[in-house]
Amino acid sequence: MLLIPCPFCGPRNESEFAFGGPVKPGRPDPNATSNADWVAYLTQVPNPLGPVQERWWHVRGCGTWLTIWRDTRTHNIVEGPADAG
Ligand SMILES: [Zn+2]
Repeated sequence: MLLIPCPFCGPRNESEFAFGGPVKPGRPDPNATSNADWVAYLTQVPNPLGPVQERWWHVRGCGTWLTIWRDTRTHNIVEGPADAG
């Protein structure tokens, strides 16, 4: 079980949250980037071995979105939440 630190509710069970996916780099200008880079932006999801920045929604709690860093090797939250709102 993953305990996610909500900035308003404190540490809460993962089952109260909806996974929002990893934080992707900013959207590139499709007219100023190569086709390969554009396709990579549209289709690839960051899945590193180690820390990954993720968005979570406290859907069964206060309703806030938060960003955490989770280590994919240990499933531990190594930093976060980075922001609220
Ligand atoms: Zn909350």
